[in-house]
Amino acid sequence: MVEQSRIGKTDLYVNKIGLGTNAVGGHNIYPDLNEETGKEVVRTALDNGINFLDTAYIYGPERSEELIGEVIKEKGRREDVVIATKGAHKFVNGKIVLDNSPAFLKTAVESSLKRLNTDYIDLFYIHFPDENTPKDEAVGALKELKDEGKIRSIGVSNFSIDQLKEANKDGYVDVLQSEYNLFKREVEKDLLPYTAQNNISFIPYFPLAAGLLGGKYNKNTTFNDGRAKNPLFQGDAFVRNLEKVDQVREVAHALGAEVAHVVLAWYLTRDSIDVLIPGAKRPDQVLNNLKTLDVTLTNEAIEKIDRIFKA
Ligand code: NAP
Repeated sequence: MVEQSRIGKTDLYVNKIGLGTNAVGGHNIYPDLNEETGKEVVRTALDNGINFLDTAYIYGPERSEELIGEVIKEKGRREDVVIATKGAHKFVNGKIVLDNSPAFLKTAVESSLKRLNTDYIDLFYIHFPDENTPKDEAVGALKELKDEGKIRSIGVSNFSIDQLKEANKDGYVDVLQSEYNLFKREVEKDLLPYTAQNNISFIPYFPLAAGLLGGKYNKNTTFNDGRAKNPLFQGDAFVRNLEKVDQVREVAHALGAEVAHVVLAWYLTRDSIDVLIPGAKRPDQVLNNLKTLDVTLTNEAIEKIDRIFKA
């Protein structure tokens, strides 16, 4: 049994390496996804000790939750899996609108429960803030759902520091999920310290910078998805970023590891980061990311990686 990590103050215990599933049925995010491969990614995770799955209504939309629901039903051991999902998006006249109102969040939880084939969700996040709903009211609705046993813990995602403080007025927020990776470190200014001081677990999304920190790309690699427009992947910036990845490769090789493993292990040295959710498009990537658990970073390696991305 792999050592389990407690997610902040929740009663959820998980393998430090979880699975991000926006490439499982996320047809609106990635072109040409094969759903059977997506299900195999989830099965591979569950069969190899990963017990934390991160999904959302909007991945698909709906399909990621549905495919995960199918795999969990097939495995038949719901209690062995910790499922996190998110809601806030809705379609109005074909356009995406964000809604954090208590009424909408309650409906969102009900429909996620159906798609996931379950009667409780371990961690439910407000996926993005809307413009109107007071954040403590939105979280208050999730607290009611928690008291009813429909969700086990409360998360918010993509909140600014002010929105997080408002959301956490009553101390109900268990988890913040925000973009954080070695190329995007803005959260180190305010969100990371706030979560550490307030016993909120911080779960970084895009931990591999959408694959750039996986160490497999070179300057000739091309992309036909969101990365085609992502500033990290453009022209000279892309070349400079690859040079940084090469410097990490030296640190990784000195430890007998690969780039992705030392990068993921580095986040786990940060206060308030208990678990990671790297995404995977293929089963071999799931297995590869698990090798992070074999890496012990020296202080020298931690500082070296820090410096590479501060330069
Ligand atoms: P990510 O984890 O930064 O990168 C995942 C990509 O890296 C994979 O699709 C694969 O891309 C590559 N990869 C994975 N393992 C690798 C390995 N061992 N070696 C080399 N390359 C590897 O990006 P993400 O999947 O978009 O984000 C992670 C999760 O965060 C998502 O799945 C989702 O659950 C969550 N998320 C949340 C939000 C939010 O708003 N809350 C937003 C975005 C994501 P290639 O096969 O293309 O190389």
